[in-house]
Amino acid sequence: MMALSNSIGENLAIINEKIKKAYDGVPNNPNKYPALLAVSKIKSKELIIDAYQHGQRHFGENYIQELYDKANDPEVIAKCPEIKWHMIGHVQTNKINKLLGVPNLFCIQTVDSIKLAENLNAAINRHANITDKIRIFAQINTSNEAQKSGIDVTDAEELITFILNKCDRFELVGLMTIGIYDYDVSLGPNPDFLKLIQIRKEVCHLFNKPENEIELSMGMTTDFEHAIALGSTMVRVGTAIFGVRDRHK
Ligand SMILES: *Cc1c(COP(=O)(O)O)cnc(C)c1O
Repeated sequence: MMALSNSIGENLAIINEKIKKAYDGVPNNPNKYPALLAVSKIKSKELIIDAYQHGQRHFGENYIQELYDKANDPEVIAKCPEIKWHMIGHVQTNKINKLLGVPNLFCIQTVDSIKLAENLNAAINRHANITDKIRIFAQINTSNEAQKSGIDVTDAEELITFILNKCDRFELVGLMTIGIYDYDVSLGPNPDFLKLIQIRKEVCHLFNKPENEIELSMGMTTDFEHAIALGSTMVRVGTAIFGVRDRHK
């Protein structure tokens, strides 16, 4: 774990260096260079502004109300004009309109059912001020844990087919997984990551897409380098940037 005495700027520099090393460690790496998503849930706007001022642009939040409040904060809006917000927590249908009202909403990483995809696409059509497509990831429950959100692996292909054929307001960026916590990498490649890679392979084959056009959002503080070595293009890092969170939800 990173020393808490480090500043956010130092933490970001260390992580960006590790990302580069992990990416360059794959010979002739065919994947897109990984983006760093700073997961700021529960952390204050001051820390978000600090990270922004050190060059960080992509931020992720888990709870729609918290995302909405932070993104609408006048100081955040004034000091972070190019911020790119990602929703990385579960999306409840009754909060879709609030989510679509988030300024600088860049991406929704947690589309995990046909019903949500359908409702979200319809809601985007009703929002006259949203003119572009919305970037989304399909979230897959690769570890098959009942308490985790994400669509079951066996239903993933059906969801992605629905997204590609029926959701005209979505731009499918890629696939996202959380996976089991604290997987011991000494046992070999993380099976959750391997599963996500396998699903991408099948989807790209089915839809005749090059694999590097479908991103993989996988890897967090404890395993982002490992995830990049396997092909992650988006790592979601909270603790290593902002320090430990003092409450868990
Ligand atoms: C909290 C969270 C993270 C970041 O976890 P850390 O271990 O603090 O890096 C990443 N992804 C999701 C979906 C999260 O909820």
